[in-house]
This record gives sequence, structure tokens and C-alpha cells, in this order.
Amino acid sequence: MRVVLASRNRHKAREFAEILGVEEVLPLPDEVELPPETAETFAGNALLKAREAHRATAMPVIADDSGLVVDGLDGAPGVRSARFAGEDATDRENLDLLVSTLAAKEDPDRTARYVCALAWIAEDGTEEMFEAVCEGRIIEEPRGGGGFGYDPVFVPLDTGQEDSRTMAELPPEEKNAISHRGRAARLMARRISQG
Ligand code: IMP
Repeated sequence: MRVVLASRNRHKAREFAEILGVEEVLPLPDEVELPPETAETFAGNALLKAREAHRATAMPVIADDSGLVVDGLDGAPGVRSARFAGEDATDRENLDLLVSTLAAKEDPDRTARYVCALAWIAEDGTEEMFEAVCEGRIIEEPRGGGGFGYDPVFVPLDTGQEDSRTMAELPPEEKNAISHRGRAARLMARRISQG
């Protein structure tokens, strides 16, 4: 089976192909424009992207949307994770703003979770949504050079080991085994393989 990934990220395309075990995950054709992420939920944004890609290609499509939800910030940065510090903010600027915002609060609730929503639209237009989370907490000082985004301050709860490594300190296989994205992709893989 060939599916289109509603993203410009070729690295994501290869990862999804490996996890889903489909023949080929194709990048979105250059002429297809993705809509702005205007929905208030991860699932809503994933669906916006998936529907546009399906309308434009008439092929099976996958679209993902993900982010970080921090309890002590009433769920922020949430669907605005990529643009927390501004429209064109870098990962580092977003991370620094998260650290300083929590530091400015008295005894903030540092529990948090990564969320990933994956929308799947079959060739006939049938839609399905797969969502998964990775629970953890936000620490005060960034640690580790792996991963991306908020990983240097996110300590996942369920590494299965007695440690407090951040997501940025885990090797990629360990991150994929417990991450929101890995879990959502495996749910989708199970469903797609059932036909
Ligand atoms: P995207 O929608 O998957 O491109 O991710 C949106 C934003 O959420 C990213 O720019 C990051 O700020 C954050 N994010 C999503 N997944 C992760 C992750 O696995 N690690 C760190 N940050 C993440």
C-alpha cells in the first residue's frame, strides 16, 4: 500500500513507513498547500491537514499533530507548542519560555504529557483518529542533546527504569518505544494491517 503523509518532513515519512510497515509513505506533493493549524485540538488540526491532502491527492493519507500539555500552565503550550514563543520561534526559544514561565510561578504543578493525534483517511474517504500520550514532568534545567523541541526538560514517567533521564537523554529506540508519536503510530499500524 502507498500512503501520502500530510507533512513536508521527509524524516517523518521514513519513520512512519518503518513503523506502519507499508510499502511507501510518500511526501506531500509540492503543489499541495497545507491549511493553517487553526483548530483548538490536536485531533482537529490533524484532520484539517489530512482532509486537504486527501482532497488534493485522492490517495490514502496520514496526518499528525502533536505537542506538550503542562498542567501548571492550564494545558499550555498545547496545540501552540511549535509557536509558543511566537510564529517563527525556534525550539530553543519555545523551551526557554516554558522554563521561565514555570520558574516565575510559586510551586507550579510540573506534571505534563506529550500528545500525538494521527488522522488516517482511506482511499474511499473513511476517516479514523488515533491518539496517544506520554506522561512525564517538566524539570527546571534542560539536560541532554537528543530528540528535539521540549525534550531536554521533559522527564518521561514510564521508561521502565529507575531513572530521571530527560527525553533528550534517551537513545532514539528508547524514545520511540514510549513516545506519544511511537504509540499513536503503532495503534494506527495495527488498525491498517487489519485492512
Ligand atoms: P509537530 O506537530 O509534530 O510538528 O510538533 C509540534 C510541536 O510540539 C513541536 O514543534 C514541538 O515543540 C512539540 N513536540 C511534539 N512532539 C515532540 C517531541 O517528541 N519532543 C519534543 N517536542 C515535541
